Amino acid sequence: MTLTDVRLFPRHHDDPAVDVEIADGRIAAITPSRRNDRRPDDGRGEDESRSHLREESEHIDGRGRLLLPGLGDVHAHLDSNRMGQTFRPHTADGTLHGYIMNDRANWRHGERSVRDQASYAIAAIIASGGTRIRSHAQIDADCSLDRFAGVRDALAAHADVLDAQLVAFPQAGIVREPRVRDLLDAALSEGADLVGGLDPLQYDRDPVRHLDIVFGLAEKHGKGVDIHLHEGGSAGAYSIEEIAHRTKTLGLEGQVTISHAFALHTNPESEVRRLVELIAEAGISCTTVAPSKGALPLRLLAEHGVAVGLGEDGQRDYWSPYGDGDLLRRTWQLAFTNSFRHDEDIEACLDVASRGGAQVMAGTRPAGLPLTEDADFGLAVGAPADFVLIDADTVTSAIMDTPRDRDVYKGGVLVASGGRLLGGVR
Ligand SMILES: [Zn+2]
Repeated sequence: MTLTDVRLFPRHHDDPAVDVEIADGRIAAITPSRRNDRRPDDGRGEDESRSHLREESEHIDGRGRLLLPGLGDVHAHLDSNRMGQTFRPHTADGTLHGYIMNDRANWRHGERSVRDQASYAIAAIIASGGTRIRSHAQIDADCSLDRFAGVRDALAAHADVLDAQLVAFPQAGIVREPRVRDLLDAALSEGADLVGGLDPLQYDRDPVRHLDIVFGLAEKHGKGVDIHLHEGGSAGAYSIEEIAHRTKTLGLEGQVTISHAFALHTNPESEVRRLVELIAEAGISCTTVAPSKGALPLRLLAEHGVAVGLGEDGQRDYWSPYGDGDLLRRTWQLAFTNSFRHDEDIEACLDVASRGGAQVMAGTRPAGLPLTEDADFGLAVGAPADFVLIDADTVTSAIMDTPRDRDVYKGGVLVASGGRLLGGVR
């Protein structure tokens, strides 16, 4: 199959178009497009039915659109979203414990089962350009493995259109509730890819025991770790030190992620640099959800070869009304919360949202290559044919305008178009 007349990650509106040949789900060749002499308006606004007919053929006319790498939501909570349900006012009290208990009091009253609601969110994420998801699934004394099983089954139903990982996540702590360790243990035997953790010092108030359980389970099952770390200041620094120490001791380089990592936003610059060095040395990756307060030092992390991915956290859930499944809009938020204005900084946000998430899930460090020269996670020959076609002038303008009409390809196959997952929600 050949995708003709597309512009690969363009930085200028007149960057030349290319033809992209796809074979066995990967980019097989990239050649200058024969359509480079087209007028700027040629082919734009083409009748939709004609465009879909073309896409059933072996040659798909890209109509001069941007070709961006597939995006990833690598910090999702598919079991708590309420997208598509009747809007309900926010009722949590603003504390971490209050958020957790508000969710516990209400999650059973959703209009769909966990599995169906997770599928609804997955469809929205794919339609926005997402080709990979790492989701946490809550496990606690209240829900046992019910929510975990719903998310696991929903992800499994989309295995042909999505790369997915599932985290067994002790949202209400491990030490302060009974049975949680054993439930995590069971989840790791029943399909979880990673074991989660949560603020070992400030929420469970027993960091050594909390981390010993998390890393003990990871070692027992040969699985990875993804820890929510909202802890700031010296508390967060202490937890990062403990996580890095255990990661190195157990040889878990590439298998441990710290989510949020607010300690990298709330400590003096010299301390942040020391913590980033610890993270890099241990081969730990990070994820951010582009919060209003708590931006990660993206440039410093990149300089140290730390993989950073983007996620949405919850979407219109019991924690907040924000989040709509649109990863390009979340990329905008990442740029906005970093106060970025220059194109290269905003393009780097799309790199985080796409290649960064893929590296987090693969446990790989960034190799320092431009995205268009990266044959593993970028848009070079050999890379997976996971991408988004979108009508915009440049990468930066696509992020600023977030056009809703996108064609999403997974392994060279069109899986979503016009805001909808083809074949419907499963
Ligand atoms: Zn989270």
